Amino acid sequence: KNIYDLIIIGGGPIGIACALEAEKKNLSYLILEKGCLVNSLYHYPNNMTFFSTSEKLELNGIPFISNNPKPRKAEALEYYRRIATSNKININLFEKVTKVKSQGEIHKITSSKGEYEAKNIVVATGFYDIPNYLNIPGEDLPKVAHYYGDPHYYATLKTLVVGASNSAVDAALEIYRKGGDVTMIVRKEDIGPRVKYWVRPDIVNRIEEGSIKAFFNANLKEIRPNQVVIDTPEGLATLENDFVLLLTGYRPNFDFLKSMGINLSDDGKKIPQYNKETMETNVKGIYLAGVICGGVETHKWFIENSRIHAKMIMEDLAK
Ligand code: FAD
Repeated sequence: KNIYDLIIIGGGPIGIACALEAEKKNLSYLILEKGCLVNSLYHYPNNMTFFSTSEKLELNGIPFISNNPKPRKAEALEYYRRIATSNKININLFEKVTKVKSQGEIHKITSSKGEYEAKNIVVATGFYDIPNYLNIPGEDLPKVAHYYGDPHYYATLKTLVVGASNSAVDAALEIYRKGGDVTMIVRKEDIGPRVKYWVRPDIVNRIEEGSIKAFFNANLKEIRPNQVVIDTPEGLATLENDFVLLLTGYRPNFDFLKSMGINLSDDGKKIPQYNKETMETNVKGIYLAGVICGGVETHKWFIENSRIHAKMIMEDLAK
């Protein structure tokens, strides 16, 4: 049976970066990706603009040419797709890894389509698959979503956006501009500190002038088919409502990491244990790459500061 030098779990930008580095070191590899190529990116909002400039999203020094100061989703898809196709990276799509079992020097990987063996594993599964659920009544109603795609869907309708970071702010502004009636629920007293600096005045002014309604220091309590109940500093408020967008962030699949034997920090941050120089976890031969490294602090790592993981890992493997 073919034993790969490494299997990379996740075909996001950083999984692809690992493949390019592995090729340079003549390591045999395979990427297993549960969805389409760069699946997380594909599921970002349609009109999403990156906070990074294009050169900071580049892999392996391959120029990412964009006409905009910050590239848009469609351009990033084009860029990563072209890298994958012209370098003929070895990737199986729509194949989810369900289990990794380590036996000495060999890791056995079970996927939705087959079984593999590898000397090393790179876990580059990101954090976009699992939303932070609010666990409130009505969260499972069909009008509730944890991902936002396109504003047209919400035109003329009463839409509640929960959250105050980039995803929530971008969605609120877009839906407002396409004729939706938007109300935001913000847990703290202000819009999030990491909101893109050029977007911030837009949302602050729309709220101040009342174009977008907002409740601060407030929490969503319950979602009903035609209403929502909000806990505000002035007491409970019930609003008429058509759609609810819960844009309260996402988290890595901690159970998956634990099932491989990777330790997570117990300070509430759940940061996986890894060597900062080599990216190897406490399990020999299992490495981490990309935004998965941050635990619940999903803002810590992004493409710009984690693409280097690919090089660090392959240098360690080539030793
Ligand atoms: P991902 O891109 O999330 O890739 C992980 C892949 O693993 C996914 O394709 C997933 O389908 C796959 N996968 C997961 N589990 C399995 C499994 N069990 N088996 C097989 N495959 C699996 N970063 C920036 O640098 N600049 C930005 O401007 C920026 N904007 C962002 C905007 C939004 C809306 C979001 C959500 C994130 C943004 N980020 C940005 C952060 C972004 O997540 C990362 O930069 C980038 O996607 C991380 O790459 P990655 O390869 O580590 O993870």
